[in-house]
Amino acid sequence: MASLKYIFVTGGVMSGVGKGVAAASIAKILQSKGFAVTALKIDPYVNVDAGTMNPTEHGEVFVLDDGMECDQDMGNYERFLNTSLSSANYMTTGSVYLSLINRERSLAFEGKCVEVVPHVPLEVIERINKAAKKEKADIVIVEIGGTVGEYQNVLFLEAVRMLKARNHDDVALVLVSYLPQQGEGGELKTKPTQYAVRTLNSAALQPDVILARAKIALDKPRKEKIAFNCNLDSDAVISAPDVKSIYDIPINFEHDNLSGILMKRLRLKPRKNDLKDWKAFVNKTHAVTKPVKVGIVGKYFSSGEFVLADSYISVIEAVKHAAYAEGRIPEIHWLNAGDFDPLGVGTKMSKDNLKLLKQYDGVIVPGGFGNRGIEGKISVIGYLREQKIPFFGLCYGMQLATVEFARNVAGLKGAHTTEVDKKATYPVIDILPEQREKMAQKEYGATMRLGAYPAVVEKGTHAHMAYKGSHFQIEGNKRRKEDKLKLPADELVIFERHRHRYEVNPIYVEKLQEKGLVFSGTSPDRRLMEIVELPKTKHPFFLATQFHPEFTARPLAPHPLFVAFVKAAIQMPKNGKGKMK
Ligand code: GLN
Repeated sequence: MASLKYIFVTGGVMSGVGKGVAAASIAKILQSKGFAVTALKIDPYVNVDAGTMNPTEHGEVFVLDDGMECDQDMGNYERFLNTSLSSANYMTTGSVYLSLINRERSLAFEGKCVEVVPHVPLEVIERINKAAKKEKADIVIVEIGGTVGEYQNVLFLEAVRMLKARNHDDVALVLVSYLPQQGEGGELKTKPTQYAVRTLNSAALQPDVILARAKIALDKPRKEKIAFNCNLDSDAVISAPDVKSIYDIPINFEHDNLSGILMKRLRLKPRKNDLKDWKAFVNKTHAVTKPVKVGIVGKYFSSGEFVLADSYISVIEAVKHAAYAEGRIPEIHWLNAGDFDPLGVGTKMSKDNLKLLKQYDGVIVPGGFGNRGIEGKISVIGYLREQKIPFFGLCYGMQLATVEFARNVAGLKGAHTTEVDKKATYPVIDILPEQREKMAQKEYGATMRLGAYPAVVEKGTHAHMAYKGSHFQIEGNKRRKEDKLKLPADELVIFERHRHRYEVNPIYVEKLQEKGLVFSGTSPDRRLMEIVELPKTKHPFFLATQFHPEFTARPLAPHPLFVAFVKAAIQMPKNGKGKMK
């Protein structure tokens, strides 16, 4: 059997220049050469997973099928590879130490002294091998978070060195470095990249490829300068300028023969050459001319003076996939929830703000936690409901849609989620008893309802129309057999990813139903409400999910609910009235 090949992707000069997308793109181009490829992320944090990190600090918390709460780059890998990964593909410093210490406590080292070196890097290597085996991979791409030279990723670089020492021809190292530009129109400066390579050299590592990230393309003299000073052939220094769409990157890499360089380095021969579907998708993204205007009402936008879109990255990508599939340019607008707070708790409140929503073809209220911005989100949802503007709620968005409906349609004044108001007169959203216990014990880490769970979709609803015949139905049929779910054969079952503590309170379900709220998706035992919507006769598209459909949206397999939402948005009459068709 051929030996497993490893490609490590590290960052130089600074973080946040697209190392994750570069790793995902490398995975994609090698997949197109007929290899089984998997991708793995190493985060240098002591946090055991990403679940306890604030999104404005670390970006979106992505969730895998098995419930792993991880870095948003895992989302990039899944989207580019068009596959679902598992917790085996993610590790943090904290998780590595935790398992090492647990093993030590159970005498797995039989009295030996357990040391930072070699035991930590060896644990890292073992985990990489396990993940590759699980995914039956020929090639594993491993992204090391942070930037070389940081104290916190030294042990991961040591793991690369150890692997390379024994398997030189099986290990390639890619450095994604940043080249600052001196003034507008000025030269790209190569010196910081040269220093980054020296830092790698001092860890006994030499990059095989340098991806030169910069605002603009790298010209020949500077390419040669980097190559000469860093001991590389100049074709192994690849220009990676800013692009309009991240989905162009695999194709750009192929123009520079990146897969060829890596295959040569790893002694591999291509098995096929098939980037067809990806190219077709990318061509579509270039061909669209008319926009669909989507507003996203959130709160994790600002960090100091900066605006961050990272907290909602999967939502943004999911909108893009659906828009492209429907032949539209995704035009996404950020709306600050606080600006719609009727009590003026937000920053720029005016009653007229709600009217601004009419300019959008559709509005999304995504997931979130806690108190801030809540009344703003609720008044947005109420306005969208009344004005018949397409609305799509995700997780907290679904819970707040239920609260809004309870208050303003079902007459339950004072309805709320107990996440915000513990003593709500009508706790229409409440915590499950098992969750309450965990909260009392301060067990916050990895204790939410996490990962993929089945839901049964009600016939004759928006949700049923969207899911019917989709890849979710096919996958659902497969998994219901595996999970031995006892359900009539004609029930439409889907599996979707969750991350929440609160649920629609079963006590109020009947009352809300009577007043016209449709629970179009429920857990197979009907205990948990998974999708709510308004009937087509009442609203062109008012639908919200307790789960996170954005996590399973892929460029080559857009999510059916996002597609349904975009379809409805496209049909919005342009006179701003949101009239029914
Ligand atoms: N805060 C809500 C809950 O915990 C919703 C979570 C979310 O939107 N991801 O249930």
